[in-house]
Amino acid sequence: MIRELHEKLKKGEVTAVALTEEYLRVIEEKDGELGAYLTVLGDDARRAAALVDEKIARGEEIDLLEGIPGAIKDNMCMTGTRTTAASKILDNYIAPYDASVIRKLKESGAVILGKTNMDEFAMGSSTESSAYRQTKNPIDPTRVPGGSSGGSAVAVAAGEAVFALGSDTGGSIRQPASFCGVVGLKPTYGRVSRSGLLAMASSLDQIGPFARTVEDAAIVFSRISGYDPKDVTTAESDGKRFEDCLTGDIRGLKIGLPKEYFSESLDPRVRAIAQEAIRRFESLGAETVEISLPHARYALPTYYIIMPSEVSSNLARFDGIRYGLHIDDRVERIPGSGTLLETYLDSRAYGFGEEVKRRIMLGTYALSAGYYDAYYKKAQAVRELIRKDFADAWKSVDVIFSPTAPEPAFKFGAKTDDPLKMYLSDIYTVMANLAGVPAISFPMGTVEEEGKPLPVGGQLMGKWFDEETILRAADAYERRA
Ligand code: GLN
Repeated sequence: MIRELHEKLKKGEVTAVALTEEYLRVIEEKDGELGAYLTVLGDDARRAAALVDEKIARGEEIDLLEGIPGAIKDNMCMTGTRTTAASKILDNYIAPYDASVIRKLKESGAVILGKTNMDEFAMGSSTESSAYRQTKNPIDPTRVPGGSSGGSAVAVAAGEAVFALGSDTGGSIRQPASFCGVVGLKPTYGRVSRSGLLAMASSLDQIGPFARTVEDAAIVFSRISGYDPKDVTTAESDGKRFEDCLTGDIRGLKIGLPKEYFSESLDPRVRAIAQEAIRRFESLGAETVEISLPHARYALPTYYIIMPSEVSSNLARFDGIRYGLHIDDRVERIPGSGTLLETYLDSRAYGFGEEVKRRIMLGTYALSAGYYDAYYKKAQAVRELIRKDFADAWKSVDVIFSPTAPEPAFKFGAKTDDPLKMYLSDIYTVMANLAGVPAISFPMGTVEEEGKPLPVGGQLMGKWFDEETILRAADAYERRA
């Protein structure tokens, strides 16, 4: 899709401004109902597009992403723009700087249409924990889009953006991509800078793209990745253009099928689609072998110790003084605060939602004296075993395949009363974050429910820093469709 739009822009068949106007029109038409966006940046987008048109008019070369309209999850800072992480506590926060990914997108000439809805501080699997609005699944508006990057997934799926950025701490790019029928890539930990991303769990968070095709995801990924002096965990990259590595050839590729992921609890309809996908990979010349990730069953409990621990520490900064609600501006809504401690308490009690509070409490508990060794330290030890499961797997296979999520999109309210049920939505995705490996979700098939074809995504996990192979395999699969 991006390549075609790029050709049209180059040939003058469409201007960047006209393309932007077209996407703004779709947003205008659909977003009242779908709720993908929290902020639409029409004027900024038009200005950015006009610069691209001027460049084309001067006869200059343009990059693939120049003039292409995209959307950004509302947990990434953008100068002069409201950045809320879908939390009341940041209701009036205007970012004073660009996240590194935003800077890179701007340098690539991409047009940013707006900021998208999400679960509050990226905690959730349905976008229902947003303090602002509901985001509906465009395939069936009675269902959730997945989460936490639900707005970004919907923007792309509904044609309200060509691409979008999301963040993935335990599955928040891949699971909504699966629910909405689009491609989502969680890069290797350290591949994309987290500078300017409002941190959820810093050792797990990664930013990545949503797109309609694997190639489009590769194009965006190539332009946001690489070393950044503002994020010490980023690695040097050789400036590879991943879109040039999509040969369609996966002959001889060894695909591991973890037996723990294909257990009894898997929805039989999802299993059938996954089995068909396995046959398609084989028909393309890949070899599939059953493998074991012996610690897979500990992944979710490990994640739900490490993640809330980091959450409790990262979110301590929202105290109503430096960041967060300014009580003084809100006297009608928050009872007048007296002491400094009361200011903190009022600000946090009013500003944070239920799920965020739950995780802050869980994390504070896991890190507290007396429990630290039993919970946090133990979880870190198990995390190491999980990393080792992958290191062992890579001795015999090149990639690992599974469904992205155990089921297709569920109905609003289906899991909001039972946090554990909601957490199970991430059962296949959290392992990649714990181990730091890259993983992609791509459309694999649909399940018919109430007359609606609900998308089901397939997940390919790869070796550390080997996004190339999972992108190539997902692209080969897509081409054969
Ligand atoms: N759904 C998971 C959670 O609630 C993952 C969130 C994420 O990746 N940001 O923690």
